[in-house]
Amino acid sequence: MQRRIKAQRQKFERSCIVCRDFVEKTSMKRIAKLKSGAIILDQRQNMGGRGSYVCNLEKCLSKCVKSKCLNRAFKCNVNDEVYQLLLHDA
Ligand SMILES: [Zn+2]
Repeated sequence: MQRRIKAQRQKFERSCIVCRDFVEKTSMKRIAKLKSGAIILDQRQNMGGRGSYVCNLEKCLSKCVKSKCLNRAFKCNVNDEVYQLLLHDA
């Protein structure tokens, strides 16, 4: 029973790299690390690669930028441009 609930959650929801809550993908921003190594804001959430998700909320987005959560999530230095896009590209 519990396993079934978990599977359902995983289908529609992703864990926010900032607050760790499970949120529906449609209410989040996806940041993807492509095979080339480039890290981009994946606006349509269909770019493939390894994805990290952040709630589309001011508190999570600004905290993500301030504490550079993407660097931790992708274990590398993420360009400031990506962080700026997160904040300004709604
Ligand atoms: Zn969050």
